[in-house]
Amino acid sequence: MAEILVCQANSCRQGGSQAVLLEIEELAKALNCTVKPVGCLGACDQAPAALVLKAGRERICTRIKSVEKSAEVVQHATGRTLDLRDPDMLQRFTSVRRVRIRQQACQESKWNAALAGISEEIAQSSGMRRWQLRIEYGQLLRRAGLFEEAMTEVSEVHKAFPTSIEVLMEFAQILSKLGRVEHITDLEAHVRSICCDPEDVRLEMELILRLGRLKAEAVEVTETPIDVREPRIEGYAIWSLRDVTLVSKHSAIYHFVSKDRQRGTPNPRGRGRTVWPKTWHVTLLARLGANSEGPLPWIERDYTPISTAKEWEQGQCDILIKIYNDGQATSWLQQQPLGIRIWFSQPVKTLSVPSLLPDLDQAPFRPASYLLLLAGTGIVAAAQVLHHAERGKCFGSSPTINSPIRLVHSCRSDDVLMSFELLDWCTKGLLKSWTLLLTEAEAGMTPFPDVQDADLTNCASTPNVAILRSRVSCELIRKELNFCPRPCRVLVSGPAGFNAACQSMLREVGFESDAVTILSA
Ligand SMILES: Cc1cc2nc3c(=O)[nH]c(=O)nc-3n(C[C@H](O)[C@H](O)[C@H](O)COP(=O)(O)OP(=O)(O)OC[C@H]3O[C@@H](n4cnc5c(N)ncnc54)[C@H](O)[C@@H]3O)c2cc1C
Repeated sequence: MAEILVCQANSCRQGGSQAVLLEIEELAKALNCTVKPVGCLGACDQAPAALVLKAGRERICTRIKSVEKSAEVVQHATGRTLDLRDPDMLQRFTSVRRVRIRQQACQESKWNAALAGISEEIAQSSGMRRWQLRIEYGQLLRRAGLFEEAMTEVSEVHKAFPTSIEVLMEFAQILSKLGRVEHITDLEAHVRSICCDPEDVRLEMELILRLGRLKAEAVEVTETPIDVREPRIEGYAIWSLRDVTLVSKHSAIYHFVSKDRQRGTPNPRGRGRTVWPKTWHVTLLARLGANSEGPLPWIERDYTPISTAKEWEQGQCDILIKIYNDGQATSWLQQQPLGIRIWFSQPVKTLSVPSLLPDLDQAPFRPASYLLLLAGTGIVAAAQVLHHAERGKCFGSSPTINSPIRLVHSCRSDDVLMSFELLDWCTKGLLKSWTLLLTEAEAGMTPFPDVQDADLTNCASTPNVAILRSRVSCELIRKELNFCPRPCRVLVSGPAGFNAACQSMLREVGFESDAVTILSA
């Protein structure tokens, strides 16, 4: 029987893979095939993706961005052509997809991604659906800090539905952000007038209480001098670019500082909360103006800091970034002067530690060894993992990772990254072995042409370091795995091509796929 594996990892989830899974499940119902969710398939730049396994052969299906594409996947698996003429079904699938994409973007506080396409959807819809979308639109604009625009939208919905509590409270939240104290007082009177039934007394009291809190926040806004009044973006804090250290012809470490209390922490604690060790990343808002990713004047990109969680709490953050000449966010960042204010999201969990799995529920075991297969800036994952192995850098008094860690890092000879830190970890024994695979330098213009290539003399003379001029291969992976006590967790992180190649080599050498975690980088 054929099997369809639908990727549910980061990039695919952002592209609506949860809805793709539901779609494929429904389309394949009663046909001769099974459908399952799966971790990263290594096709992050062509999300959403699925893998069809049939008669011992594999076929990767990418960019499953429409119901028709989902039907093609089912067709590859079953050989059956599906009838997609039912307009209601198409409409239902399309709107589920949009909702899922938006939900995922909201979960990650990616407001530009969440707002993408919503105006068009409003224009195409009618009746109650249209009003629902408008209130959602207003709410998202408020969360993105566009309060005036949010008010325009929500005040119209409020006029049309003056007794809707949901709309009224959304309206009040926006008014509070704008410091419109007297308008909130009007809403209090309005609440009293609409809750006249004695059964509504509790609701009325609750609403008046909530409005009172919003009014207090509005007063705070009015007391802030206008020149320092700045709309807040929900889930984000302001950082400042303090310095840039060039580390190769392509990459640099960007040093940020912040005193903003909204920056949060990778390890929220207090109020009886258990702190679960994790690796983490943050989202940067590159404010480059109008763009094709959504209606907001910024694009959202994830980064994994190489500095520690403690440093984040102290208001310092170092991020290693490769600059792409055609990269929208990175070429924007390269042009920013020191001192520029930059919005970063609060930290988001990437993987649970010590399992290195995306979900805590999936993580009952502690690996006896780790093999990190990383490429390019994927090396940032090593920094985060090793912080959990190093006393003084980990959260809490003792390291969560005690099992041996082996690293294979593939990079271009003109973009060797973190060699100083990796050598230090090797010397301290935190890294059992480090194999550096050097590939040819990138052709064409580089962003930092004057930076000298890394001096690897010290690395070459260190016993647990090997430097090879080659690419990752099955033979190398097999050799590395022979040194890894079981259960071993393999973490793969690099560009999509590297991830896909490693995944297929791991399969070829017979390594269990559920012991592999793949991260896009
Ligand atoms: C969880 C997570 C953590 C990440 N952490 C880091 C980090 O710490 N440091 C870091 O530098 N990046 C990191 N990235 C990648 C980062 O989010 C951006 O994708 C990257 O900086 C490029 O953004 P851009 O807007 O400049 O390029 P885009 O405009 O999105 O892409 C334009 C072009 O850039 C090139 N390009 C972009 N990304 C890649 C890639 N990964 N591999 C090969 N070519 C690419 C391609 O030529 C592409 O066509 C991370 C990604 C994720 C999902």
